[in-house]
Amino acid sequence: MNTPRLVNQVIQPQTVIEGAGVRLRRSFAPGHDNLFDPFLLFDHFAFNDPREGPLQGFPTHPHRGIETVTYMLEGNVRHRDSLGNVGVIGPGDVQWMTSGRGILHEEMPRRSANGLVNGFQLWVNLPAAQKMGRPRYQEVNAATIPAVEDSGALVRLVAGEYQGIHGPVTDIAAHPLYMDVTLRPGAQVRLATEAGHTVIAYVFEGQGWFGIDAAGQGQSIQAVRMLTFADGDYVHVRAGDDSPVRFMLMAGSPFNEEIYPYGPFVMNTREEIIQTLNELRAGTFVDDKMIPA
Ligand code: FE
Repeated sequence: MNTPRLVNQVIQPQTVIEGAGVRLRRSFAPGHDNLFDPFLLFDHFAFNDPREGPLQGFPTHPHRGIETVTYMLEGNVRHRDSLGNVGVIGPGDVQWMTSGRGILHEEMPRRSANGLVNGFQLWVNLPAAQKMGRPRYQEVNAATIPAVEDSGALVRLVAGEYQGIHGPVTDIAAHPLYMDVTLRPGAQVRLATEAGHTVIAYVFEGQGWFGIDAAGQGQSIQAVRMLTFADGDYVHVRAGDDSPVRFMLMAGSPFNEEIYPYGPFVMNTREEIIQTLNELRAGTFVDDKMIPA
């Protein structure tokens, strides 16, 4: 680990409404400029006031050409899809869904016993050669996600490598690193990230110093913010002296391909989007249109 990554950009998430009226904190969404390649979207769904009433969700909708990654902190998401999968993503669980050529699914958040829902959805791009591949799920139970504790730093590792340990989600085209990091006040951590990969961090609790350089200087970041990092081979973070800090760290290899996003689809060309919409209209988008009850 020779070259520290400095903070490049600090993004304030914006409130948006999606699905059947779900309020989200959105850090970024797919765009032709593909600024976060291979990452396409990062949403934080947080319903922390039971007085908001019944939750809306994401009724049946399609995806093509991407991977959607759901990570829950509190509450859960019930899902079912056109492949016949039915399940519940609970606190600490991960669902890494590779849509490939197509999937239809429903995602419905539910409150925890104390009335809270808190979770993230990340979209990761697929390279052109895999956009029309076979759909695939990797569902990982909280108990099987390694949690590494070291000098006040707790790392839950979903994908990629940390201190010689590998996350349970594997064989993803973007070779991602995906981890949930909690630092006690004053604790610090150096996270190795491959040079040339895109690195982003979603800071959702507390305050810390991010992108600390060789001289020990970093940028103070207070939750909630999305950060991007300049190139290098590690990210150095220290929690505030009086505050813990918690963040999701994501890294992946860019594909450097043109993208053409349209709603829940991200393809490489406009023609591929038109083809997708034609298949939806003709009822040939997926083989099994029946979503289990
Ligand atoms: Fe979806």
